[in-house]
Amino acid sequence: MEGCIFCKIADGSVPSSAVFEDARIKAFQDKSPKAPTHILVIPKEHVTSIADLRESDRSLVSEIIYAAKKIAEDEKLTGYKIVFNVGADGGQSVDHLHLHLLGGWPKGEPDNAVLLKL
Ligand code: 5GP
Ligand code: ZN
Repeated sequence: MEGCIFCKIADGSVPSSAVFEDARIKAFQDKSPKAPTHILVIPKEHVTSIADLRESDRSLVSEIIYAAKKIAEDEKLTGYKIVFNVGADGGQSVDHLHLHLLGGWPKGEPDNAVLLKL
């Protein structure tokens, strides 16, 4: 989708600190982290939000969540939160589907207020 910053990150025309990539998915560091570890996991194909998923996208969402689990293991996160903001009224500011993977707080001290910062 023309003008979409995450499509540009997906195709490499805008640089990012990538931590994972396969044929359908890319994951990279959030440019303005709200947690010690804050990674975004996106489909390479432009999908606007969870609200715009088609039935045929169901496996894509599973792949995004499974990628987040593998990245959390690689990052040695002992616990984490995964969040999708959906639509402007849900706090979504970039209209390309993305999963927030958040963690890395001191053991036993998760930042449960992090949702208010996203
Ligand atoms: P949202 O508010 O849409 O759920 O989250 C968008 C996230 O994307 C924010 O956490 C924001 O910091 C991040 N973000 C926005 N633009 C860029 C960018 O150009 N590069 C990276 N790495 N992150 C971005
Ligand atoms: Zn896009």
